[in-house]
Amino acid sequence: MKLKHVLTLSFIFLSVLPLFLALQYLNEYTAKQHRTQVEEKLEALSFIAEKRIEAVIARIIDSNALIASRTQMRLSLVKWLELRDKLALQKVTQIIKDAKGGMTRLHNISIYDTQGNLVTSTLNQSLPTTLALPIKKALPLVKLNHTDEQLFVASLNRLMLDNHVIGYIETQFYADFVIELIQERTGLGKSGEWLFAVRNQDGDALFAVPLKYDSQAAFKRTVSKSNVQTPITQALMGNEVIMAHAPDYTGQAVLASTRYLPSLDWGIVVKMNEAEISESIKKTSIVIYLLEGIILVLAIAIGVSISVYISNPIEKLISHTNKVAKGNFDPYTNVSGLQEVKELSKHFNYMISALKDLNDNLNQKVLERTQELNSANQKLKELSIKDPLTGLFNRRHLHDVLSHELNRSTRYKSPLTLCIMDIDHFKTVNDTWGHDKGDEVLIKMAKYLQTTLRDCDTVARIGGEEFCIILPSTRVSASVGLLERIRQDISDINFDTCLEQFTVTASFGVTLCAGSKNNIDNILKQADLALYKAKSKGRNRVEVYSQSDDNNSVNS
Ligand code: GH3
Ligand code: MG
Ligand code: MG
Repeated sequence: MKLKHVLTLSFIFLSVLPLFLALQYLNEYTAKQHRTQVEEKLEALSFIAEKRIEAVIARIIDSNALIASRTQMRLSLVKWLELRDKLALQKVTQIIKDAKGGMTRLHNISIYDTQGNLVTSTLNQSLPTTLALPIKKALPLVKLNHTDEQLFVASLNRLMLDNHVIGYIETQFYADFVIELIQERTGLGKSGEWLFAVRNQDGDALFAVPLKYDSQAAFKRTVSKSNVQTPITQALMGNEVIMAHAPDYTGQAVLASTRYLPSLDWGIVVKMNEAEISESIKKTSIVIYLLEGIILVLAIAIGVSISVYISNPIEKLISHTNKVAKGNFDPYTNVSGLQEVKELSKHFNYMISALKDLNDNLNQKVLERTQELNSANQKLKELSIKDPLTGLFNRRHLHDVLSHELNRSTRYKSPLTLCIMDIDHFKTVNDTWGHDKGDEVLIKMAKYLQTTLRDCDTVARIGGEEFCIILPSTRVSASVGLLERIRQDISDINFDTCLEQFTVTASFGVTLCAGSKNNIDNILKQADLALYKAKSKGRNRVEVYSQSDDNNSVNS
């Protein structure tokens, strides 16, 4: 198999196949989304219809109450019922006729006595003259009537006077808002339809309006209450749900949203045929499939091009290498694709080992540079803390060490002493033997101090010929003993010159770093006072700070 074929197949498996699966998923997802959208639309439409009908019913009940509230009408009714006063009856009729004239879409107003007998109405034609009494349901009672192919909403209520029932009033409105609602099928496609049903005496669903596929259905066609799979039965059961693949009166599977109006005991269904929904999903799918096809063809074309683009120079390279190695060897006739891959991996291995060497070199260089940097940093740090002439710590670092030792001595309650040492008459050394000899003295003095003191002690050069010594875990008495020995040693050191040898002496001021005043400045000041005492007592001696030295310094 050629390298380009290997690459093409790899590309298809690694890129085109996942792409194909992703597009398949997209297709399914789109179909699901489409269906959800239809469901949401049906649900929203049925909800709006329910709310609109409830609003109209509320208006009808209000209108009925408004007419019932006419006092003159109620008084005249009582007069007629009790005294049979014909004028009073005429007045009642006149008032309800006036009321009817003031209201559009009102078909009739009827007044009944307490026995349910018709007293008067706005219609001249014959009407049912009695009410079915007693009325079992709560008043005002709203119900749907169907007379002479006409749909009405009737509202029945009591007529009251002085807290007594004096009769009943019934208003009948044209229910054309229902007809308008069922004719409104925007967004419901070709198969979309509204269903409205009331409950008949047997409890079955009785369609209240003509159906799209059965114009004679109003108040004739029923759906048995046992048929619970049908949306209209579910609606009348009071279940407000979305039903998928539900059987319809047409015998087709539908997607339906059901609603129930308790005031009318009325079921509403809005539905669309599943076939139509599937059809529109199919249409969208075809577009996506087309797009999928185009994308896949493009992806394969790009994959093949890239494979050829990558493999050609490699194949040429291998051919060239083989020619060099085996004379006129022809790789295209003798070397298979897998052989090519082997050759290629050999070349890659060379490249990898070269890169590894380069990487090792780089690592070595980085290591060397890091070491150089570290030692430069170390030098810089030493320069910043050390005195260049003697190599001792400088005054700044002494402060740091002293603060650290102070903390330690406080924490462990161990004694800490500090001493300032000053070479006596050093100016004379300079003046007599020259400045360089003076430097030599300083260097030798520093070396001596460094070697004679313990590792835990610290010595720093804090001035021209002044040194400071920190002695941790050492009492004053022990310090004085040690410093006496040092003082003696110093005075024994011989310094050579071209003419003769000379010696120097030093004075020492010691203090204990303890008590409430043990801050660095105070301690150095106390040691300084003790040194001053040593100088004034004739030099070449060790003096310990005492509080009286403070007063002496103030007085002097
Ligand atoms: P005293 O006994 O009172 O301490 O007298 P002294 O001469 O030691 O003190 P003074 O402060 O009068 O003189 C200190 C001298 O130290 C003056 C200065 O020239 C010298 N000096 C300071 N730093 C250096 C240095 O780095 N090298 C040399 N050779 N001399 C220094
Ligand atoms: Mg001095
Ligand atoms: Mg001095």
